[in-house]
Amino acid sequence: MNPELLLSRIRVVLCRPSHPGNIGAAARAMKTMGLSDLYLVQPKQFPDPEADARATGAVDVLNRAKIVDSLPQALVGASFAVAMSARQRDLGPVVGTPRETVQRLLAEAGQGEVALVFGNETHGLSNEEVLYCQAAVSIPTNPDFSSLNLGSAVQVMCYECRMSAFAGKPPIIEQGVTPFASAPAAHDEVEGFYGHLEKVMTDTGFYNPAQPGRLLPKLRRLFGRIRLEKDEINILRGILSATQVRTGHGRKE
Ligand code: SAH
Repeated sequence: MNPELLLSRIRVVLCRPSHPGNIGAAARAMKTMGLSDLYLVQPKQFPDPEADARATGAVDVLNRAKIVDSLPQALVGASFAVAMSARQRDLGPVVGTPRETVQRLLAEAGQGEVALVFGNETHGLSNEEVLYCQAAVSIPTNPDFSSLNLGSAVQVMCYECRMSAFAGKPPIIEQGVTPFASAPAAHDEVEGFYGHLEKVMTDTGFYNPAQPGRLLPKLRRLFGRIRLEKDEINILRGILSATQVRTGHGRKE
């Protein structure tokens, strides 16, 4: 199914958010990842200039947000809901990782509407709210400090949704294509460069073969740290040849 359509079927539900800034941050997190359906369950303060400020270009998501009185109202029409919680609950659904649970969420989104449900900044989700959900996710963290900012938790999940919807290849950046890249240089080409460099260094007096020190191994170490490409070898050898021509040593290669 079209990834954008899948993402449009994921609603983000914020239960009783206290800080309007976090609502704005959540809207921005959603829009950057292609989600747009925001539900607010009893927000303490909304609309609010602080929410607009934190949303920056995602104010349209805020303007379309649906404000409801309870989580069940936010889940009307949704067939699958994921509770976001740093803590395992006694009777709640089994807690999974973001990546594995988002795969399931997207499979469900292929059938209809789904939801990611986030809790209040201070108290998290209530046990009752968790029980309305069919799955739970805990974002892996430092065990000594496991609570993310609400907007950050929304960002992590929306990112996972985008990655999963586009099967790991979102179309924003041309992945793996480095401008100017050429094929890796072969062993003999690299050795040819070292030989050329040694000759120029000797001819110009920079290197004295009678007192070699550790210059040659150090240069091998330097160039060995990077994977030289054919074009790069040509450039380096071109510089060496130009040096030879100017200094009257050897012929232009
Ligand atoms: N103090 C609250 C956490 C509030 S953070 C508590 O102990 O539950 C606000 C919301 O962000 C949480 O309710 C949860 O939905 C989400 N969140 C924050 N950190 C998370 C984590 N590590 N894993 C899953 N959800 C998290």
